[in-house]
Amino acid sequence: MQRVKENDICRYCGGVIKLIPAKAVYGESARRLGMEGEFVYQCQNCNARVGCHKGTTRALGNVANEVLRLKRMEAHRVFDALWKSGRMTRTGAYRWLAGELHLRPERAHIGGFEMDQCQRVIELCEKWNNEEAA
Ligand SMILES: [Zn+2]
Repeated sequence: MQRVKENDICRYCGGVIKLIPAKAVYGESARRLGMEGEFVYQCQNCNARVGCHKGTTRALGNVANEVLRLKRMEAHRVFDALWKSGRMTRTGAYRWLAGELHLRPERAHIGGFEMDQCQRVIELCEKWNNEEAA
């Protein structure tokens, strides 16, 4: 997984990527999204973007266009529902996910995942839900 840095070239359009405050992207929604005071890397040409590890300027992965951003959000929703159900702790859920994806836990951040990894998260969660229900 490639982690984007400032002044990198956007993989979609060749634009320049800059580190900017999340507030500049999300405006008033930043607080609601828990992004206040956080940073994002954004392509200055096509707006592809990726968030950072909380409280840092370390990107979670590579920038995402709208299609990938929606996929990351979907994977996050499905995964969060798993531990929010109370059948797994949040920490336990991340450890389980990392194990299934053969990633070190500090690498298991859906906000930095690629399309295939997001799809895998969704499938793994569905499988887990079905097995639990059986
Ligand atoms: Zn771009």
